[in-house]
Amino acid sequence: MSLKYFLLLMATLASTMVYPQGRFDNVNIKTTQVNGQVYMLEGAGGNIMLWITEEGVLMVDSQFAPLSDKIKTAINDLTDQPIIYLVNTHHHGDHTGGNAQFNDAQATLIAHQNVYKRLQADGKETGFLPESTIEDSAMLEMASDEIILIHLENAHTDGDSFVYLPRYNVLHTGDMFFNGRYPFIDLQSGGSIDGYIKAQETMLELINPSTNIIPGHGALGSFENLGESVKMLRELKSKISLAIEEKRTRDEVINDSSLTKYYDDLGFGNGYIDGVKIRTTLYDGLYRSSGQ
Ligand SMILES: [Zn+2]
Repeated sequence: MSLKYFLLLMATLASTMVYPQGRFDNVNIKTTQVNGQVYMLEGAGGNIMLWITEEGVLMVDSQFAPLSDKIKTAINDLTDQPIIYLVNTHHHGDHTGGNAQFNDAQATLIAHQNVYKRLQADGKETGFLPESTIEDSAMLEMASDEIILIHLENAHTDGDSFVYLPRYNVLHTGDMFFNGRYPFIDLQSGGSIDGYIKAQETMLELINPSTNIIPGHGALGSFENLGESVKMLRELKSKISLAIEEKRTRDEVINDSSLTKYYDDLGFGNGYIDGVKIRTTLYDGLYRSSGQ
């Protein structure tokens, strides 16, 4: 199979993905108060952040469409205020699937311009698509407080933004952080190993030890947890870069569980990305940038 055909096939599969009926039936939405009127909602897919004010609600990411009614119920349990800002941290379906359900007349849907491009290329229509796009960064205001959006290049994808609430010291990282787990780095959508590490370093510089972090996936996290993630990635990067320098083959690296054993044992491989998958991604991403 040619690479071009393979990529086309993958793109087709992704856009026609149908969820088996019942997949979301047993999913419950768990609400956690993070700080003041800032909440994290967990269901299936990417974690949602809500910030509730007397002027309206900020919602970050929208999980999957079949969960929208349950998410609306969870929001209604907290407030009657309308959503006025809906932000997508990137284009993946587990963060944008509910867009059209939450993007009503009062809401403005905001994301990086590459999110718009990718969703549009995927056939998504008005309502699902961002109505306002950012290039590098944006600052929004709600109830006289700031919402900071910053795009970081070629990290998890080519359209990632994190969202930071200075007053509450809460950061939503999007999928630039999987708490306690190996991350998915989407090399097919412009993600890169070095960009991912740099993104985590950039976020660590901006925040402080008392920041609460809503990761794309995993439990509510801390400065320390994000620090552990970047340390893990730097260590695995150096091990796998060395294997590439030593001309070890792709199969050898993928099958060598000793390369990731330390973090596998800590449970980093228990999520969506296991030891084999992270070794594959690191090999492919680093091999590409090694120029070999
Ligand atoms: Zn993602």
